[in-house]
Amino acid sequence: MRAFRKAESKDTNMTAELINGKEIAAHVRQQVAAGVEERREKGLRAPGLAVVLVGSDPASQVYVGNKRKACEEAGILSLSYDLPADTSQAALESLIDELNENPSVDGILVQLPLPEHLDADPILVKIRPDKDVDGFHPFNIGRLVQRRPELRPCTPAGIITLLDSVNTPYKGQHAVIVGASNIVGRPMAMELLLKGATITVAHRFTKDLAKVVGEADIVIAAAGKPGLVKGEWIKPGATVIDVGINRMADGKLKGDVEFEVAAERAAYITPVPGGVGPMTIATLLENTLFAANELHND
Ligand code: NAD
Repeated sequence: MRAFRKAESKDTNMTAELINGKEIAAHVRQQVAAGVEERREKGLRAPGLAVVLVGSDPASQVYVGNKRKACEEAGILSLSYDLPADTSQAALESLIDELNENPSVDGILVQLPLPEHLDADPILVKIRPDKDVDGFHPFNIGRLVQRRPELRPCTPAGIITLLDSVNTPYKGQHAVIVGASNIVGRPMAMELLLKGATITVAHRFTKDLAKVVGEADIVIAAAGKPGLVKGEWIKPGATVIDVGINRMADGKLKGDVEFEVAAERAAYITPVPGGVGPMTIATLLENTLFAANELHND
């Protein structure tokens, strides 16, 4: 699948091909829908995803709404648990226990961030690893580190789908990941190592980021700092994946990469929005189907 296109803007000297995450995600979602339909034809139940939202943070409500809608479109059963903001740690943990035992639930997703009085770590560890469709449980991270991934963190796994879509060769390539978080940077490094790339992980203490990024054949920008990665740092012909989602004062979304200049040097680049973002939900659906097909035998 090669879902990218030459940039159409007349205002820039853009030479990069745009990797169209929206299109690629739509394709993945169709494949998941086909997989769900196959189960139905075999008389198997629809995969089920439980989405837990605590409180009423507006951004979280939007994310959760999108995830539930995407499930329904793919034929995945979406079970909604909207809990009040003052839910206790014990009540949330006992809901996780219940969902762990519920045979119609293949995946459990707890939307982060949780309200301040709740501790996310023990909650995430409580989710049964074979239902951990976000891939954040230490078991699943450990599997990925030991090159036997099962349920993979959605954003890095979705980025691999994007890189595969443009036939990234990986082996012999130098990948630089800017950002070392548990949900993006670290698992991204493990995914790319698994593919045979040589990895550098840069973070807030890295010196001379320009030089480090300048050596990359693949740049993954995931720092959450708008325009941190300057276009002129990009090695000509590199592939640039922008994970950053930064809401600017004018309400627009901006990535971590200085897009216009980077696009004059890169071979492939993802836009923000419409790049990595749509892949995260598509991969969540893939993980839910995988859990139903491969990890649960009923
Ligand atoms: P985080 O804040 O947990 O981690 C940021 C990382 O960037 C840290 O490791 C930090 O050391 C590093 N960093 C910060 N400033 C830096 C600098 N000046 N130079 C080098 N490194 C620096 O963030 P996160 O949760 O990993 O998210 C990163 C970005 O990706 C955010 O914009 C977030 O919104 C976005 N994101 C997008 C998706 C998606 O689906 N597209 C998913 C997750 C996160």
